[in-house]
Amino acid sequence: MNIWDVVVIGGGATGLGIALDSSSRGYKTILLEQSDFSKGTSSRSTKLVHGGIRYLAQGNIKLVYEALKERGYLLNNAAHLVKKQKFIIPIFEWHLGVWYWIGLKLYEWLSGSLSFGESKFLSRNDIIKEFPELKSSKLKGGVLYYDGQFDDSRLSINLAQTCVQYGCFVLNYFKVKSLIKKSGKISGVIACDIETKKKYSIFSKTVINATGVFSESILKMDNDNSQPIRPSQGTHIVLDKSFFRSKNAIVIPKTSDGRVLFCIPWYDHILIGTTDTYVKKSIIDPVPFDSEIEFLIKTFRKYFIPKPKKSDILSAFSGLRPLFTNNKNLLDTKDIPRSHKLIINTSGLISIIGGKWTTYRKMAEDTIDRAIIIGRLEKKPSITKNIKICGSNVLFDTDNSYWNKYGEDKFYIKGLINDNPLLKRSLFSKDNIFHYSEAEVIWMVRYEMARTVEDVLARRFRLLFLNARKSIEISTNVAKLMAKELSRNNNWVESQVDSFKKLAMKYYYPKKLDNE
Ligand SMILES: Cc1cc2nc3c(=O)[nH]c(=O)nc-3n(C[C@H](O)[C@H](O)[C@H](O)COP(=O)(O)OP(=O)(O)OC[C@H]3O[C@@H](n4cnc5c(N)ncnc54)[C@H](O)[C@@H]3O)c2cc1C
Repeated sequence: MNIWDVVVIGGGATGLGIALDSSSRGYKTILLEQSDFSKGTSSRSTKLVHGGIRYLAQGNIKLVYEALKERGYLLNNAAHLVKKQKFIIPIFEWHLGVWYWIGLKLYEWLSGSLSFGESKFLSRNDIIKEFPELKSSKLKGGVLYYDGQFDDSRLSINLAQTCVQYGCFVLNYFKVKSLIKKSGKISGVIACDIETKKKYSIFSKTVINATGVFSESILKMDNDNSQPIRPSQGTHIVLDKSFFRSKNAIVIPKTSDGRVLFCIPWYDHILIGTTDTYVKKSIIDPVPFDSEIEFLIKTFRKYFIPKPKKSDILSAFSGLRPLFTNNKNLLDTKDIPRSHKLIINTSGLISIIGGKWTTYRKMAEDTIDRAIIIGRLEKKPSITKNIKICGSNVLFDTDNSYWNKYGEDKFYIKGLINDNPLLKRSLFSKDNIFHYSEAEVIWMVRYEMARTVEDVLARRFRLLFLNARKSIEISTNVAKLMAKELSRNNNWVESQVDSFKKLAMKYYYPKKLDNE
């Protein structure tokens, strides 16, 4: 009988990080994801690799310190997907300016040798020059600081590839249905291949539940009805860059709900978010609430001269934070700490809850350290601080060109075009913003485990998140290319396009809905 050392349930940031930590230490590891990698929360973040200035304001120095270190490791290990980004906090009251400046100096100091750059004070004129769209009547000046920005779901795809390099099995579209137990102890899982509907028994010395907001469903399989998760929805909207032309990001430090609001340039668009709304039920495709959209638009309009309307939204997407809390009555989720927590059941089931994308590596290290004890595995140290993530061995230009997100893989994609020059064709008949080529779709199917049109358009190209209408335009083209690669028929093409359209319609507002 084949017995694994570690089974990881869940292929988001947490599960993929654990699978990499485990396999790179030499443990026999398999990861099972019920859908696509990062289909859940891990493709829906604010795209920040950060210590978290808000957590600093809350006095959570330990989390900020840890996250700033991890930010530095991520930049070193995934330079093709993580970049340094300038952020500016505008100041409208002098005493707050002094406060932010001290806080950001502390932020910079905490990052030590892994600092991203020096924060500094900017004059009113500097800010107006940088952000002509900002309302300036009460503006006094601003503070500039540095943080990281990344492409979350592309990082998860590259993490999956890195796991494979270390001998790990990573399977998407494989859902864990139940746990196998022997004398009260977990000895594996029963999982179903979603495409073939075939079930498999997978035996293992340890089982790790890394299913984010779905963790309670795995705990239930272990007869544990506890409810440690408080899901909190965060929504973003994406606008055309004409609403905000700067290459720098801006942070509105205190919104009417007591949070910060980020306006960040992202792939030539502007990403605005986020919200923090407690939700009762965790679902895989959460949809923005009208109140969230209205809040984001209203807050943007309060600080900026342009007046976006609901119909200007190119894409709006929501994600659920898997927050851990013992306090069932705490509904104001913005106050729940973002640190992670390990839960160990008497059966030996290990659940990892909470945390952030930025700290996924440290979370993984902590989890495997515990798995070694529980599974009585031979003790070996974590080596992930120095593992280069697939794609990052870029010994060439590090400019911000279109191909950079693929890192060194761009050479292989261009190789596909050399072999078949027709693959250079653009997926759009005419469009000068999105340069997606047919070759990339082929690459994604062959080497990035894309199985559906949504996998390609949402989490590999990111088009669903940038411009939902445009993503519908090329869905048929993508489906046909995929069908050829995967030997699928016309029915498959039709049903893929149909279900993708239904999904994408939830990401934008085709009709004029509000009082525009
Ligand atoms: C709005 C928002 C903004 C954020 N912004 C940032 C940010 O800027 N920077 C940052 O560092 N962090 C950010 N975060 C936090 C970060 O995104 C999350 O902490 C992280 O993505 C959680 O990853 P996860 O793997 O735990 O969960 P998920 O990504 O949800 O992964 C869990 C996976 O488990 C799978 N699964 C569930 N049940 C099963 C089963 N039975 N069998 C197999 N698989 C199963 C699901 O399909 C899912 O893919 C943000 C979060 C939100 C919601």
